[in-house]
Amino acid sequence: MTLAVEVAGKTDIGCVRTNNEDNFGYDSRHGIFVLCDGMGGQAAGEVASKLAVDVLLQYFREHVSASAPLGDLSIKRPALNSASLAQAIELANRTIYEAGHGQAGRAGMGSTIVAALLHGRELAIAHVGDSRIYLIRRGSIQLLTQDHSLVMEQVKLGYITREQAEQSELQNVILRALGTEENVEADVEDLVLMPGDTLLMTSDGLTRHVHDEEILEILESNASLEHACATLVQAAKDRGGDDNITCLLFRMIERPWYKGLLSRLFPGGSQWQNSF
Ligand code: CA
Repeated sequence: MTLAVEVAGKTDIGCVRTNNEDNFGYDSRHGIFVLCDGMGGQAAGEVASKLAVDVLLQYFREHVSASAPLGDLSIKRPALNSASLAQAIELANRTIYEAGHGQAGRAGMGSTIVAALLHGRELAIAHVGDSRIYLIRRGSIQLLTQDHSLVMEQVKLGYITREQAEQSELQNVILRALGTEENVEADVEDLVLMPGDTLLMTSDGLTRHVHDEEILEILESNASLEHACATLVQAAKDRGGDDNITCLLFRMIERPWYKGLLSRLFPGGSQWQNSF
């Protein structure tokens, strides 16, 4: 058996906003998945989140291609871990910071980021801001990131409960973002995945309206990742959809080795993608 990854993503402007400042992107061939939620007036937020997504994808396309010939599974590519993810995020931060300081109307633009780098069964994750990544494994859901927000900081210190945080008017106050300072520190983690694991990356437009247990319920009742994305987005919209909503889902699957060979020989004939 070989491991492969199935992916689906969806972004929606929501029911109230006039523009969508969220962006996401992935390249399953290079194992990189990224989601960003931009901020700043005059369309600067969508520029910032797009810049961050593009920098991350480009970084790993160059990095992976340079370190090993594609398709050669015998070569362990070096440094595809959380350290390289943090480095790519630092580059995205610098890119937004410089773009923000170089143009009128773009001052103060910034973005959250949540990124995942998949290499075989190893997954590196990193985030800045309040975009999240969840692990769904064997019927349970686990939040892998801790929001860099004022309210979650207060929860951590024991000043308020998570329930109080969810009702707070200060939910918008983010303590860390890309593009606001010259340097940024991402929180990073390395973990090992199991076949069947599903990862959900999401912006706060979903998680402010749809609780973890309900997210799990939706994922368990939708076998297709596309349907699951659509149902998650609709659940947030049904509750007002006052923000942009974005979900990026990927799942580790096992399949017989010859299926990977067939999809390489006949590209486009399968919905599965190699994760190597
Ligand atoms: Ca948002």
